[in-house]
Order: sequence, then C-alpha cells, then structure tokens
Amino acid sequence: MIPFLDLGAVNSPHAERIAQAVQRVIQSGWYILGNEVTGFEAAFARYCGTRHCIGVANGLDALTLVLKAWDFPPASEVIVPANTYIASVLAVTHAGLSPVFVEPDPTTYVFDPKTIEAVLTARTRAILPVHLYGRCCDMEPITAMARRYGLKVLEDAAQAQGAVYRTQKAGNLGDAAGFSFYPSKNLGAMGDAGAITTNDDTLAERLRYLRNYGSGQKYRNAYVGFNSRLDEVQAAILSAKLPYLDAENARRRQLAGRYLAGITHPDVLLPPADGVIDDVWHLFVIRHPQRDAFRNYLHERSIGTDTHYPVAPYKQPAYAAYAHLSLPISDQLHREVVSLPLNTALTDTQVQYIIDTINGYAA
Ligand SMILES: *Cc1c(COP(=O)(O)O)cnc(C)c1O
Repeated sequence: MIPFLDLGAVNSPHAERIAQAVQRVIQSGWYILGNEVTGFEAAFARYCGTRHCIGVANGLDALTLVLKAWDFPPASEVIVPANTYIASVLAVTHAGLSPVFVEPDPTTYVFDPKTIEAVLTARTRAILPVHLYGRCCDMEPITAMARRYGLKVLEDAAQAQGAVYRTQKAGNLGDAAGFSFYPSKNLGAMGDAGAITTNDDTLAERLRYLRNYGSGQKYRNAYVGFNSRLDEVQAAILSAKLPYLDAENARRRQLAGRYLAGITHPDVLLPPADGVIDDVWHLFVIRHPQRDAFRNYLHERSIGTDTHYPVAPYKQPAYAAYAHLSLPISDQLHREVVSLPLNTALTDTQVQYIIDTINGYAA
C-alpha cells in the first residue's frame, strides 16, 4: 500500500534531531515562551525575509489574531476564496467580521485578482489570499488593488512554507501572514503550532501581547487577550526541521515534475506548472470528472489519495447562511479534485507506479 501520507516516515530522517530538541526543552525546565520560541521566531522571520515572526498555538489563531489586532469596525468584510480550507473563513468569523466568498481562477485554483475588485464594498477592510496547495496567489495585482482601496492584505500561508512569488517568500507578500505547522504541512510540528509574520512593528508588538493574555509584563494586561502561545517543545522541533525545509521542498518539486511529465491520461487534468511562481507542492491535486470512481480504482490498486476539499466552506452546515450563493467554479473543483501522494517519504518507484496506474485507467 502507498499511503497518502505517513507522517512517521516523513519525520523519521529527523528522529534524532527531534529527540535531542525535546530533551533539551525537558531539561531546561522552561516550557512556555522561552528561548526556543524566541529562537524559532528569529529563524523563521529570517527564512521568510520579514522583520517579525510571532509564534502562536495554530494556524487558525494566527489568522484570527491578526484580524482581531487590526480592530476593524464590526461586520467589516474580508474577501476570502470560496475554495479553501474552512480555517481561512473561520478566522474571519471569529474576528467578528463577514466573509465575502469569491471564485478562484479556474486554472490555478487561487484568487483571480479581477474577481476581487467586483465584490468590494464600502465595508471591505481586508483581502485574505490563500496560497492554496503550496502555490502563491498572483500577489502584485492584489496588493496594488489593496493600496488603491486602503485595504489590508492577510496571506494564509499555511500550505506555502518556502513558496516564492517573484523574489519574495510567502509570508512576506502582504501586511501580515498566518502560518500553520500542523503535522502534515511542509514544515510540520508534532502537535499544533502556528506563526504570524509581518514587517509592521506596531502590529507585531500588539500580537505578542494578544497571544499572551494581552500582557507584555507579568500580571499587567493591556488588551483583552488570548492564550495562543507556541510552546517550547514545538518551537524546538520546528527549529530542528527548518534547516531542511528547502531541500524537502526541492524534493517535492522533483516529485511533482515526475507526475506532470508522466501522467498523460486524457481525462485527468493536471495542476498548472509555470516558472513565475515557485510552488512548494504542499499537495499535488489533479482533477477527474468521475472523481469517486477514479479514486476507487486507485485505492483498489493500493494507492492512497485524499480530497482537498470535498465540500466548500460556504456549503458546510456551519455556514448555512451562505448556502444560497452560486459559486460554480468552486463547486466544480470540489466535485473533481483528487490529491495524489506527494511527500518526502515517497520513492521514485512508487511515483512511477502511481503514474502507470493512472495512465492505465479505463473508465
Ligand atoms: C492547515 C490550514 C490552516 C489552519 O491551520 P491549523 O494549524 O490547523 O489551525 C489554515 N488555512 C489553511 C489553508 C490550511 O491548510
């Protein structure tokens, strides 16, 4: 069986480094907001090219805290893609704001800058581009539009650690960015973890307070804050793995290149591959018009797959108030997408087997 993702196998090359990192934290006797968090924040800010990194508890909190920190008037609108993981939308809701769903570009699956402009209103305060599947949104027209209308740009970079747009890394393409280090992400912790990156000194300081009970000084609370801290153990593990992220992303690109060159089945739609945007292939997502039958075929031949995502956030019971919307591009994507195994534990032989099996599919 080729599993869709075996995190034990993905982490096994790092096993010794991780054990040492955890041991160091245990022996330090300091488990919350100490040298490990400070060290990882400095390393990840350097990696992204930003002035600041603020470690938080998870990716959802990273996005939510930034939106809270901006302190927009209640019911302000935030533009989100219709086809994203629900966390991007929940962050908007938890910050007391209203999500405005827009259709993706039908070929890249990320924001189409033209569709954003069409939904701007007097209440729009921010745009939330999601670098879905590891591919950066076309950020230049988005940030230009944001400047024109006085809007903030919050990147959801949860799936794009290390992705590059032109000369800048994901996390350094807007006013602030939220990262998740959920175990399956390109840079994954061994539990929940997240971070915010920004070049805005004032915002960074506010976020350091907000994640820690609104406090910068023990027992003095300047804001109504949260408890959303990255813990020392996760920070130490992330610091141990970060130096290998670029090499691991390079391996992902190599595997994606094999799929792109090898899969020739006429019914399978491959993801786009172009040179301008440096995709980190968090997921390798293909489309098939009879997705479920196609997935069954692969599973019967011992190939694990997943679906990112089977249902659009606006069609979830949690967002029943938006169920009346008509978003046909997004709906079609949710019907057709299949994610193939793509991770650093996958071998060339396995990839070739997957390619051959797909090309041999007779519906
Ligand atoms: C994983 C993910 C998140 C949320 O991260 P958590 O750490 O699970 O809270 C947000 N947005 C996207 C696009 C994600 O893939």
